[in-house]
Amino acid sequence: MSSAEFSIIEQFFRRTQHQQSGCAVGIGDDCAILDVPENMQLAVSTDTLVEGVHFLSGTEPKSLGHKVLAVNLSDLAAMGAKPAWVSMAITLPSINKEWLSKFTAGFFALANRHGVKLIGGDTTQGPLSITISIMGLLPVGQRLLRSGAKVGDDIYVSGTIGGAGLGLLKAKQASDNSEDVDLQSYLKPIPKIKLGQKLLNNASACIDISDGLSADLNHILKASAVGAKLDHDLLPINESVREHARQLDDELWPYSTGDDYELCFTLPKKLSEEAMDVINDDSVTKIGVIESELGLRIDMKNGQLVSLDKGYEHFEK
Ligand SMILES: [Mg+2]
Repeated sequence: MSSAEFSIIEQFFRRTQHQQSGCAVGIGDDCAILDVPENMQLAVSTDTLVEGVHFLSGTEPKSLGHKVLAVNLSDLAAMGAKPAWVSMAITLPSINKEWLSKFTAGFFALANRHGVKLIGGDTTQGPLSITISIMGLLPVGQRLLRSGAKVGDDIYVSGTIGGAGLGLLKAKQASDNSEDVDLQSYLKPIPKIKLGQKLLNNASACIDISDGLSADLNHILKASAVGAKLDHDLLPINESVREHARQLDDELWPYSTGDDYELCFTLPKKLSEEAMDVINDDSVTKIGVIESELGLRIDMKNGQLVSLDKGYEHFEK
């Protein structure tokens, strides 16, 4: 480790975080050592965000620090896991202390809110990119998977859809209106950790919406070997998104935009009391039903049934 790297870690990443126990050895040695509580299992997910690919060049560092953690927390939410630890590998073009100070402020504000402890990582020099490995805890044998949806289950989404996609377009136009709801949902998504935990043992399948509702729901359908029909009139979208789709003359636009980080899940028709609580307490909307016929269909409510199988592709063909 170079002295420059050592001082970055000491100055910006080594913080006293009180919430999370179970970290026997943290930052500063060759490995971290973690105590996984008895009767619990570790849920682990890794995501890389590259400047110019996953976030716009020149993104404000505080919201970037929030977002890199939020998108990883969202994967824990999708499995119903309780956040515990995180490690980070960050590649920086240069040591910019003001940038690092803002980035870590955004990162640790969200980490502390969810009781996540930074247990280690790596810093290198190069084009800006950040890789996060997040670890959460699940009671042994309990988890939300993509593969449990059954014919007749109802399909739900949390929050609203398409706002982050519209926010990305606004960010590209260099809009910095901090009051803009769409822009904020793109820059600072809120991971649905509590909802995920309430869905544990109640939902039959669950996924977080990162690549777009149609792409992510299709993952559930493929993993569960079922199909689905959505009712277009039920899709929860903001008026600004509705207006944007109208301007494009493409009512299906909200289904294909990513970055919402809401949860899409299925619930059996016969609901437990906990599942009823989810429906009553959280901003979730029933949008359709699981069917035996494979594929995803949208009932446009004008006699048209549209088939949708695409979302954001990581690799262009
Ligand atoms: Mg995911």
